[in-house]
Amino acid sequence: MLTYTPCTLCPRACGVDRTVSRGFCGCGDVAHVARAGLHFGEEPPVSGRRGSGTVFFCGCTLRCPFCQNHRISRDGDAGRPVSAAELADLMLALQDRGAHNINLVTATHYLPTVIAALDLARPQLRIPILYNCGGYESPDTVRALADYVDVWLPDLKYGTAEAALACGAPADYPDVALAAIAQMAAQAGPPAFADDGTVTRGVIVRHLVLPGGRRDSVTALERLAETVDPAAIRLSLMRQYTPPAALHLAPPLGRTVTTFEYDTVRRAAAPFDGYAQSADSVGEQFVPEWDWV
Ligand code: SF4
Repeated sequence: MLTYTPCTLCPRACGVDRTVSRGFCGCGDVAHVARAGLHFGEEPPVSGRRGSGTVFFCGCTLRCPFCQNHRISRDGDAGRPVSAAELADLMLALQDRGAHNINLVTATHYLPTVIAALDLARPQLRIPILYNCGGYESPDTVRALADYVDVWLPDLKYGTAEAALACGAPADYPDVALAAIAQMAAQAGPPAFADDGTVTRGVIVRHLVLPGGRRDSVTALERLAETVDPAAIRLSLMRQYTPPAALHLAPPLGRTVTTFEYDTVRRAAAPFDGYAQSADSVGEQFVPEWDWV
């Protein structure tokens, strides 16, 4: 049961009543959306030709020190408050604008509202629902989304407890994320694509290579290959890491990834089909100032 009262939507399981209190994510029981619009910067099968109908939620259940979206991820009250009905209208408007899919970005902490919105919008939605998340998901939550989500886009950020802890994540992040990915793959089945190449079903795991983190990246990919059949998912290997100037990050997080680091990880990605970013992907601003629909 996905509820704000008490909240166990993510594995932090704070157990607070979010109508009157807040847990680790710092969010109340009113969903806040930072931006919504057509996004062309996702993987080719996600953005397609007409763009992905992306809805960016404020707040986050993780607190990565290098988050490029830190202005919205660290403030659950940023953006605009939306009701379930408003969120449903937003999804339908994105569909009307030609979006290939509805791409829910970091929605876990607002799932009661998101599910209510999907219940309202689904009779008219004809495009796949994508769940774009940090990978730190509870088994009950993933199971509860089985009938709502067509394509899962989880991160696998770290392969070891040490790397997770070094970046402020829970020590159990790798174990929890790998278990969640296995469950997502079991629920969604193998990747499926429309005639135009856009994804309609399955799991695309994202791994961002971090500066100084190549050994952990290799471990993460090895563990991923041991956990799920590589043929049953796609891998998106990302080299866009850019330290946000405003965060003044200490080494090694204060620099971009070297070609040696990225190429090392790319070799470890050999068992997987998928997508890889070029060096051109490095840039200060990941989230563009999208228009609202
Ligand atoms: S969604 Fe927020 S309040 Fe709920 S368990 Fe996770 S961190 Fe805690």
